[in-house]
Amino acid sequence: MDIISGSCLRGDVTHDITAAPLDFVPCHCARCRKTTGSSFAANLIVAAGPRCTPIRA
Ligand SMILES: [Zn+2]
Repeated sequence: MDIISGSCLRGDVTHDITAAPLDFVPCHCARCRKTTGSSFAANLIVAAGPRCTPIRA
């Protein structure tokens, strides 16, 4: 599987996903609509792991 790299919206936390995702969940709740500025958010569910790396204190 390819590595999927990304970060939180502020860029404070980065991640590399190296295992297959567990699920894909589109969400239409008010928070997801506000965060994305669209009608839904696309959420990829993965197992927790040690690869989330804060890059700012
Ligand atoms: Zn939501």
